[in-house]
Amino acid sequence: DETLEARRIRVLDPRLANQIAAGEVVERPASVVKELVENAIDAGSRRIEVELEAGGTRLIRVRDDGCGIGEEDLPLALSRHATSKIASLEDLEGVASLGFRGEALASISSVSRLELMANVDDDPRNGWRVVAEGRQMEPRVTPAPHPRGTSLTVRDLFFNTPARRKFLRTEKTEYGHVEEAFRRLALSRFDIAWVLRHNQKTVHQLPASPDSAARERRISALLGKGFLDNALHLDLEAGSLRLWGWVGLPTHSRAQADQQYFFVNGRVVRDRLVAHAIRQAYRDVLFHGRHPVFVLYLEVDPTVVDVNVHPTKHEVRFRDGRMVHDFLFSSLHRALAEARPGEHVADVV
Ligand code: ADP
Ligand code: MG
Repeated sequence: DETLEARRIRVLDPRLANQIAAGEVVERPASVVKELVENAIDAGSRRIEVELEAGGTRLIRVRDDGCGIGEEDLPLALSRHATSKIASLEDLEGVASLGFRGEALASISSVSRLELMANVDDDPRNGWRVVAEGRQMEPRVTPAPHPRGTSLTVRDLFFNTPARRKFLRTEKTEYGHVEEAFRRLALSRFDIAWVLRHNQKTVHQLPASPDSAARERRISALLGKGFLDNALHLDLEAGSLRLWGWVGLPTHSRAQADQQYFFVNGRVVRDRLVAHAIRQAYRDVLFHGRHPVFVLYLEVDPTVVDVNVHPTKHEVRFRDGRMVHDFLFSSLHRALAEARPGEHVADVV
């Protein structure tokens, strides 16, 4: 009987399964850039270059000088649930890497034309290349010279999923999203050198910034000169918690919440608890409807924070949310009450 046959349960073919999973993590070029750059960070890179054509809709290339990927691992890197970052549930508990789901490359390669080149040793004559076009074929690994590290090129995102392709906006809009993603990533790691190129033009060239003067140069390059002139620097500690960074003076608030960067252990986070603590701290000093600006880094023991809440990992869950909330609130509240522009607030609470 035909309807019975149609209702039989089947296991999805891997390519379709990947395309469905791609719906969760790959929304637009900016999400591809985020995933590829997070991999480059996890690989221990000192320098990461992002190159785009047509806002990333035609081409996205991320090159790094990290650990590279060995020949046998190259096809694995593109398979689903294949990761070098965790092997057990215990690993997940204290995970410090940005990735661990082993889904990004499988997903991206199912909806684009992907080329992966890598080399694990210091001889640039060595190296390997693997291509996957919408994951139709088993990836074939061929020799290709490449300096130590990895290059990933993603062309024609969503070429084989027209319904998703239709949701892409103009080149300019997509580029704007990529630049914002790049800004967050470059703010997350001052020890890494970064380059962003769009349509052959260098937009950002940021050297590694080990000291505070260099960090401030990077902040100005990414957020504009005015940001630091109207911000307080703070660095506060309480027990195992440390909060440092820059918060805008109430007089420097914005109509939109578009310059708010909060990192937990180097990971960009949008969290209700964090947002609430910051809002409370500014409550008495900001006009209604205005939004503060900030670039803040919260450092906590990785075992007291759960990052495995959502596939894009923008949310976290703190074991002791109340303590984190109170620390954020009291630190910011005091900094705002006491300090003058350009001043530095450092203390042990
Ligand atoms: P995840 O990051 O969650 O492990 P991905 O699909 O993003 O999953 O990557 C799969 C694997 O490919 C990683 O675990 C890593 O071993 C390898 N890999 C991906 N990108 C890089 C890179 N830039 N440098 C070194 N290894 C990489
Ligand atoms: Mg990853």
